[in-house]
Amino acid sequence: MAVSNGNCFICGKTAGKTAIKNHILKEHDGDGEDCWLFKAEGAYNKDYWLFFTVPINAAFSAVDDFLRDIWCECCGHLSAFSIGRNEFDMSEKLSSLCEGDVILYEYDFGSTTEIILTVVDEISRTKQREKVRLLARNAPLRIECDRCGAPAVCADVMKYDNLCAECAKKVDDDGMLLPVTNSPRFGECDYEGNYDIWTFDPDKPFPQPQKPTRTLPKRY
Ligand SMILES: [Zn+2]
Ligand SMILES: [Zn+2]
Ligand SMILES: [Zn+2]
Repeated sequence: MAVSNGNCFICGKTAGKTAIKNHILKEHDGDGEDCWLFKAEGAYNKDYWLFFTVPINAAFSAVDDFLRDIWCECCGHLSAFSIGRNEFDMSEKLSSLCEGDVILYEYDFGSTTEIILTVVDEISRTKQREKVRLLARNAPLRIECDRCGAPAVCADVMKYDNLCAECAKKVDDDGMLLPVTNSPRFGECDYEGNYDIWTFDPDKPFPQPQKPTRTLPKRY
């Protein structure tokens, strides 16, 4: 499987990013509420990608909540959406966007994770309670241990090394190890993917997971 392959969370199809986008627009544009189809990619590693829908009359805060849950949240850092110098208010409606807009999302202004959002197209979906519906996501990337080449399970935050289970045992300070996560925030701050409930399992049907139950960290 090529690294950037992923899965459709409606029917399970496996394909690359562009093929999945075309597949969604062809097969999963239904009737119901008018939504934007968004693509999200890691700004520095576009092998991390998502496609999701959000009602056009929802606010930016709905997308913020979702990106925090699936990719970003560690300790309640600040976040922002912007196009060039224009920063959006979190309460602003997504209806101010246009097809083709490219938006920068930043989470944490210390060790920042940057995500590029593209407004792909308008799409309809069956009405649902959750504002955001995940439609597709990249399969977990193959990350190698920097010491021996075996599949990595964690990152040594102090040394910027990715480590397999064996090599991790030889590290003294295990408080500085962070698990491998399917996120562009892997290895940053205290990010452990605690709120990411969207793991693809080909052996199960693909119900939309409910929002993770959690106590939000205080935002500062
Ligand atoms: Zn599908
Ligand atoms: Zn943090
Ligand atoms: Zn190793």
